[in-house]
Amino acid sequence: MQHQGPHFLQIPGPSPVPDRVLRAMDRQVIDHRGPAFAVLGKEVLAGIKTIFQTTQPVIIYPSSGTGAWEAAIVNVLAASDKVLMVETGHFAALWKKMADRFQLEVDYIPGDWRHGCDPAQIEAKLVEDKGHKIKAVMVVHNETSTGALSNIPNIRKAIDSANHPALLLVDAISSLGSAEYKHDEWGADVTVSGSQKGFMLPPGLGFNAVSEKAFAAARANKTPRSYWDWEDMLAPNAAGYFPSTPATNLLWGLAEAIAMIHEEGLNNLFARHQKLAAATRKAVEAWGLEIVCLDKPNYSPILTGVMMPPGHDADAFRKIALDNFNISLGMGLGKLGGKAFRIGHLGDINPLMLIGALGGVEMGLSMAGVPFRAGGVQAAMRALEEDRPGNALKA
Ligand SMILES: *Cc1c(COP(=O)(O)O)cnc(C)c1O
Repeated sequence: MQHQGPHFLQIPGPSPVPDRVLRAMDRQVIDHRGPAFAVLGKEVLAGIKTIFQTTQPVIIYPSSGTGAWEAAIVNVLAASDKVLMVETGHFAALWKKMADRFQLEVDYIPGDWRHGCDPAQIEAKLVEDKGHKIKAVMVVHNETSTGALSNIPNIRKAIDSANHPALLLVDAISSLGSAEYKHDEWGADVTVSGSQKGFMLPPGLGFNAVSEKAFAAARANKTPRSYWDWEDMLAPNAAGYFPSTPATNLLWGLAEAIAMIHEEGLNNLFARHQKLAAATRKAVEAWGLEIVCLDKPNYSPILTGVMMPPGHDADAFRKIALDNFNISLGMGLGKLGGKAFRIGHLGDINPLMLIGALGGVEMGLSMAGVPFRAGGVQAAMRALEEDRPGNALKA
């Protein structure tokens, strides 16, 4: 079927790229060793720190988020090092699989893919580890496969209460630029992110924000590494350059995205995401469907995962919505494959775009013959109307 008007890209990353960012990238490439590049390099290397809320260096790679995961591992960890990970969902499982490939010894706290990490379990594991064999705690901040956050400040507190020296490595790939995140204040040692989610950029940039303690661990770590080596980045970065060819046009986009985020204000941006997420949950509740995340305080502001009623295929429903209404919804990942779908509400999105997306979901459910109650879109509209200045947000 031929469609007119914009495609609704409602997956939880890549998220739609704003016109301003597209225009900022629509330029002839320049000499990455020349003087004009240094201006751009310095701008993005300084600007990116404000999004991670850190005064420490943020390393920028031409890579996917997966590359930035690997960078975090090879810089601070070595084969046979013990690490603690938590099975929050598909992305936690993939990072764990990568840790296995690097022959890390992973103590993997099992999970049901419907909750964030339990800081008390992390604390108990660390208290047990009297010999301080655990070198790192590795967690996913926003589990994009389920729509559950993990409380990073409470995980930091758990590590500190156990008086344990483990590093805290956080995957904030889908949360940076959408959900509140404070690398320094929250005591993260390495925060991993990528360009195509909250940053509203095309895929292709990976980030590592690195604490003093993580740099010290990297200097002492003998694991062979080259492309991902943090140390190789630092000297050229200080002058606004990179050791190899950077993704110049994506960096122009990054500079524009950072400017847009600051024009809105980080706190306004976080509140906008919370409001759209709350309205989405109102729709799901009104439909009588189940939200994947069972951990209310940790509902994701970035996406909402929705369980399909038993006997109904989430992918068949998504195909009907795509074919008829030109909307891409996130598929169920890993063991949620076919059983759940995900509504992305992150990045360059506003209430009317959300209402359009929820309309596509509601019509798709109806056409797919999924049992549900009508009125989800209306419930979301009421939630958005109520959430105006002077009216307290109803959870
Ligand atoms: C998207 C995502 C990844 C993977 O990033 P890629 O850019 O696809 O390699 C990892 N973790 C989380 C939480 C994600 O949302």
